Amino acid sequence: MGKLDGRVVIVTGAARGQGEQEARLFVAEGARVVVADVLDEQGAALAEELGALYVHLDVGEEDAWRAAIAAARDAYGRIDGLVNNAGILRFNSLVDTPLDEFMQVVRVNQVGCFLGIKTVAPEMEDGGTIVNTASYTAVTGMAAVGTYSATKHAILGLTRVAALELAPRGIRVNAMCPGAIDTAMSNPSLLDPEADSEETSRALDGLYRKLVPLGRIGKPAEVARLALFLTSDDSSYITGQPFVIDGGWLAGVSVI
Ligand code: NAD
Repeated sequence: MGKLDGRVVIVTGAARGQGEQEARLFVAEGARVVVADVLDEQGAALAEELGALYVHLDVGEEDAWRAAIAAARDAYGRIDGLVNNAGILRFNSLVDTPLDEFMQVVRVNQVGCFLGIKTVAPEMEDGGTIVNTASYTAVTGMAAVGTYSATKHAILGLTRVAALELAPRGIRVNAMCPGAIDTAMSNPSLLDPEADSEETSRALDGLYRKLVPLGRIGKPAEVARLALFLTSDDSSYITGQPFVIDGGWLAGVSVI
């Protein structure tokens, strides 16, 4: 018996990184998964490997959400879960951030999450689940990622309000707040064939050994296990909550 037997789950931004690991784990646990992304080649290849459905979905476009939902219903006849995972990061101090850049991040991270809730919840079976991917920077500040942090704080607001509004239908809505996770977002050298990704990984290891109490960067598969917990009946009495998964980073600072 899998933890998600019979359930149909849409995972956005699932072509790579954390979303990919969520799609893999959910399929292994018996779910029928809709892999949604703008990276068509990677997303379609993953879906084929998993026996899942790939849909092109730019999470900032309401019509694209409606098309993705229709495709999911055509293929599987129902929708039980959504993981709002798609996201982008830009580095800039607030005073140097062009408005276009601010709006670009808001469009994907915040509007994308809002549209996911708005369009999928009415089509979802009662008792369904929504997991929103926020961040460590949703619960504390971090210099140079102000736009990103603002959108991730907003995702916690959306999570709480959606949990209240959807509770009468038994739909649970929670958020994950990952610290540093080893994907292209925190280590862009993973995407650059010219880069010495081993050297970058060593440098990042040194950084996280100092910053993170558990002494290492997190693995996308570890976040996927939290997403599984929040999507399965194991979390049946939990809704409206942020879950920090950060190796202890947020616990405080050490002076020794
Ligand atoms: P990633 O960059 O590997 O994956 C992000 C995915 O989102 C990609 O597949 C990308 O194509 C997709 N995407 C981007 N814009 C999109 C759009 N408009 N519509 C649909 N898909 C889109 O990074 P990741 O670490 O796997 O990120 C997953 C989530 O985790 C993001 O929401 C990110 O903000 C969050 N997060 C990441 C970290 C980290 O350290 N990596 C930490 C905290 C939170």
